Amino acid sequence: MKRIGIVGSGIGGLAASIRLAVQGLEVEVFEALPGPGGKLDSIEGGGYRFDKGPSLFTMPRLVEELFELAECDMGPYFGYQTIPEACRYFWDDQTRLTASASIEDFDAEVARVLGEDRGAVASYLEQSRRLYEQTRPLFLERSLHKISTYLSPEVFKAFGALGSVRWDLSLHRTNQKRFRNPKTVQLFDRFATYNGSNPYRTPSVMQIIPHLEHGIGTFLPLGGMHSIPKALHRLAVDLGVIFHFNTPVAQIETEKRRATALILERGDRLDFDLVLSNADVYTTYARLLPDFDLPKRIERAERSSSAVIFYWGINAHFDELGLHNIFFSNDYRSEFDSIFERKELGNDPTVYVNIGSKYEPGDAPNNCENWFVMVNSPASYGQNWAREVEILRSRVVERLSRVLGRSIEDLIEFEEIVNPVQIEEWTRSHRGALYGTASNDLFSAFLRHPNKGSRIENLYFCGGSVHPGGGIPLCLLSAKIATDHIAADVR
Ligand code: FAD
Repeated sequence: MKRIGIVGSGIGGLAASIRLAVQGLEVEVFEALPGPGGKLDSIEGGGYRFDKGPSLFTMPRLVEELFELAECDMGPYFGYQTIPEACRYFWDDQTRLTASASIEDFDAEVARVLGEDRGAVASYLEQSRRLYEQTRPLFLERSLHKISTYLSPEVFKAFGALGSVRWDLSLHRTNQKRFRNPKTVQLFDRFATYNGSNPYRTPSVMQIIPHLEHGIGTFLPLGGMHSIPKALHRLAVDLGVIFHFNTPVAQIETEKRRATALILERGDRLDFDLVLSNADVYTTYARLLPDFDLPKRIERAERSSSAVIFYWGINAHFDELGLHNIFFSNDYRSEFDSIFERKELGNDPTVYVNIGSKYEPGDAPNNCENWFVMVNSPASYGQNWAREVEILRSRVVERLSRVLGRSIEDLIEFEEIVNPVQIEEWTRSHRGALYGTASNDLFSAFLRHPNKGSRIENLYFCGGSVHPGGGIPLCLLSAKIATDHIAADVR
């Protein structure tokens, strides 16, 4: 039986461990943190519980697929609910809009509140669906680096669909052509942030992203987002996968062009036939492969955005807020110029507030709410985060207090704050980027590191920093593509 060592138990590493155990490999996972999940961590304090990282769960089918593969009933491990509204939007001039999960209702609401033609949103989302269906076989489900991909009839069709994409337009320009109200444009520009990109630069093909939320739907795991890695870890253990927590890997030992062993920080050396890295690909090369130079394209790749997050225990209840809430800035372009060009926090940030306790009341004391308040930020390039965060905090408190008409500062009874440097320390993601590399130009998809590198024959990669990209669904797909490579190689 072949033995494989996996570095990291992020969502990608967990999914890969399950797939490999089902393939019949002997699997061991080495994780620096005390438990599974990587960015899907959880924190508690003052009677509150918060999901520390992701808050939006789309494409639950990809989690279900893992239980089906393992021929295991998902019920005792994991459940989720469908959320009837996608997001509540707030602007400074008191415009408010609730985006229903029903496309028809969302379309009607945008027409009523923002004055778009009836049908404008529905037809935009229909195009988003079509584009998603046509392009996913190429961009999401297969290796972009295997000849066989380009010979498949589905991929051939995907290339056909790409002919209809306006490659010369950014997502923002595409949205501007479709909607008359700048607020509708801003609402649909926001989807670029789902993979940490800039709507003024990311190509129009990113119009596929709203389909995930509005076509497929938004969901919430029972028990919160951290339940996803908890369930996958349990399934993996039941399949025989061995996990070593609090066990950072110091080096992937290589001989000629083969990975031969993992050397742990505590000194042990363990032989493996194959190695899969779920750690950020930059840190994999820079820290774990001392005999190999960092590939130039990884070194040069633009990082996705990072974030500053305030975890606030709020001693009040807000009826006007839902699970996902966005408080838009007044100058979106300047906000993204700050993040990606000037690498600083702008002075008018858009604020995202997620309140898990709306659906999981046990996550906050009675009549209180657990606010996860996130502002997109540049990746970490040595900024003075202590000072930046102090200024940002007062801007966020001021915006929320003004729009909601209540002094938020007086209601914060628990607080923890995480900045990009701390995200890097926590997850070992280069510069604290949330989604690996940004998709800010036409070729980003093709330049992202493949799931099987060319330098070391039996070293594979999965997770948000490699193909097909960041975010939970894509990390789950990366595990599938990487383990398909492994299945083909060990056959
Ligand atoms: P990671 O989560 O990056 O984990 C990698 C693991 O490898 C870590 O546990 C790390 O400790 C371990 N590791 C690294 N090096 C070593 C080593 N040398 N030895 C041992 N272990 C090592 N996505 C969404 O879909 N929806 C959202 O709403 C969303 N919001 C986000 C909000 C925040 C604040 C953050 C941080 C991320 C968000 N994302 C969201 C992105 C999403 O969390 C990530 O894309 C995804 O979880 C990354 O998974 P991964 O498989 O790449 O592993």
